[in-house]
Amino acid sequence: MDNIKTYTIDVLIQKILDGEKQYDLSKIVSAYEFANKYHSGQVRGSGEPYITHPLAVAYILLELGMDTDTICAALLHDVVEDTEATDEDIRKTFGTDVAMLVDGVTKFNKLPIFTKEEQQAENIKKIILAMSQDIRVIIIKLCDRLHNMRTLQFKSPEKQRLTSLETMNVFVPIAHRLGIKAIKEELEDISFRYLDPYAYAEIEQMLEKTKDERDAFIESIKERISARLAKDFNPVPTIEGRVKSLYGIFTKIYTQGKSFDEIYDKYAVRVIVNTVTECYFVLGVIHDMFNPIPNRFKDYISTPKANMYQSLHTTVIGREGIPFEVQIRTWEMHHTAELGIAAHWKYKEGISGNSNKFENRLAWIRQLLETQQESNDVEEIVRAIKNDLAPEDVFVMTPKGDMISLPVGSTVIDFAYAIHTQVGHKMIGAKVDKKMVPLDYEVKTGEIVEIITSKDPNHGPNRAWLDICKTNEAKSKIRSWFKKERREENIAEGKAELEREFKRNLIRVPDEELADFLSLDMKRHNCDTLDDFFAAIGYGGVQLSKILPRLKDEYTKKYIQSAENEPSEAPSQPVITAAPKRGTSGIIVDGLDNVLIKFSQCCAPLPGDDVVGFITRGHGVSIHKKDCVNYLNQKDDPAYAGRWVPVRWEDKANQGATFKATLDIVGHARLGLLADISSTLTAIRIPLHEASARELKNGNANVLITISVAGSEQLNGVINKLRKIDGVISVDRSGK
Ligand code: MN
Repeated sequence: MDNIKTYTIDVLIQKILDGEKQYDLSKIVSAYEFANKYHSGQVRGSGEPYITHPLAVAYILLELGMDTDTICAALLHDVVEDTEATDEDIRKTFGTDVAMLVDGVTKFNKLPIFTKEEQQAENIKKIILAMSQDIRVIIIKLCDRLHNMRTLQFKSPEKQRLTSLETMNVFVPIAHRLGIKAIKEELEDISFRYLDPYAYAEIEQMLEKTKDERDAFIESIKERISARLAKDFNPVPTIEGRVKSLYGIFTKIYTQGKSFDEIYDKYAVRVIVNTVTECYFVLGVIHDMFNPIPNRFKDYISTPKANMYQSLHTTVIGREGIPFEVQIRTWEMHHTAELGIAAHWKYKEGISGNSNKFENRLAWIRQLLETQQESNDVEEIVRAIKNDLAPEDVFVMTPKGDMISLPVGSTVIDFAYAIHTQVGHKMIGAKVDKKMVPLDYEVKTGEIVEIITSKDPNHGPNRAWLDICKTNEAKSKIRSWFKKERREENIAEGKAELEREFKRNLIRVPDEELADFLSLDMKRHNCDTLDDFFAAIGYGGVQLSKILPRLKDEYTKKYIQSAENEPSEAPSQPVITAAPKRGTSGIIVDGLDNVLIKFSQCCAPLPGDDVVGFITRGHGVSIHKKDCVNYLNQKDDPAYAGRWVPVRWEDKANQGATFKATLDIVGHARLGLLADISSTLTAIRIPLHEASARELKNGNANVLITISVAGSEQLNGVINKLRKIDGVISVDRSGK
């Protein structure tokens, strides 16, 4: 790009007249006159009149081929901020488009840009991109920054360093993502010069020292390729020598640990042709003339880079043994490579002339803003996509200028909690852009939000906020406030819930033994007392549905089986029996009438199973399956002699009565396994009472379900059906 000493309106006009693109010259001149009038008397750090700056910015935009309105906006870009002129004046004189662009640049300048923190820089990029409804605002801003960088020598060393850092962190990535290579490389090189003057000087010297031989080498390569292509092309394609940017060389040397001599693409030529087919043809010719270095060929034509860059790259070795890179591309690819998104304005009428294509490109731009390019690390890419501009994010600021990013639809409550938990808890109202708003107000990008808090130390959130706020962060903070501040409510609620569930599951534990019975779960949830545990249930910290299966097992072991199996007179344990009333149990115990029947939980017998009874001490007869391990282990034990008794099913047992059975299913862990099981059961009209699934160490899933069946025959039918479900490995009756 030209780097003119003094920019005047005449230089600008001459540039327009020299170019092919049509401009509204009188509009541009009157924009200049307007700006010149308002900036009169102002000077820059260099001592030049201030107007030279907007003129320079307009000139750079002309070089990019931007349109009349953009050039006018560039000339006017500082008047609203730095002079008496208003937004309204510009609208009246130059129309809404120019006014909108100037307003965009003015707003942009008000953004708090903190270069110290990487994260802030990242946020700034996001807000800039999100705020700019018109991409021309960003392009003007990039050119503005470029001219400020070119004239940075007039600023203090501290200002030079900070501005360079900011340029590197914020503006270079934006220029890169928009594909405007000319601006990106110049911004990068100038920043580099201020940030690391020694490294810059060193590379500059190395390049200077090798300049003559490099030029001679590149010149000879160009001639040879040109001569060879003349056989097939008339006219011969354009061939350019290419100089890698200083900063580009620096990153290769210092980040890839290469020496200056190892940088192959420091020597590079570029062949520009008319069609894609010609690109591949030229590639063949190059590979025929020189030896390609393996693994250095890159086809960015079939796989363009995220910023729309397309070319073929290959590195070959010439007769001198010096490797060099060859880039092959069409003219259209070339314009995009140099100007990126800006190519649209310069070549709008020329090459594509198709606004649909441009719309697609804009959509692509949105996408590329989301993705980090040139990274092979999949995780890195995924992280970048997550972190980068997501259209579902909004960016709002505190009155102090700190940026907060929130998901779209977030309310001022989410904002308050994002600032600080206490700000959320103490919130009584909110102002957006200095106006009071309701608490369900959804914040938008660019808004400044102020939270009004209560002085009352006991002030807290409202439960209704849980339905208003959007982020999980706010929700969990509100919940945890209620957890701490509403302990009594939580204890009562948790206690009631536990009692309800125990009743439903036939668990009856005396109050004085409850703490002992729950001790394992209390320890797991860091609860020292029963009240802590009730409170945890109350606010949802402990989910009863998750611990109930284990508690049921424990209950069976501790209170039911021990009562049955202990031969010595154990102190009578309070036990709830699951037995239906006599006459509906369906079991006949020979020789014993009117006896309490209970189905053991260890093997859960069903009608049709071979069963046997055990006379418990004081709790009737418990029924086990004949293959139950408890029975097998104890039937010959003299200690139990006489207590195992034969029992049988009543004939009518199968009529109407249902029994609970638990099935243990193992299958390949997959989405929808549980859903398939449940729909299979629904299809055959088997009621499902409970289901739980867990992942096994080997990656399979273990599903436990409790269902109601009329007997073992029906249960076997169910098991067969379940075994046919995709991914199911085994289905077994639970119980020994
Ligand atoms: Mn400016």
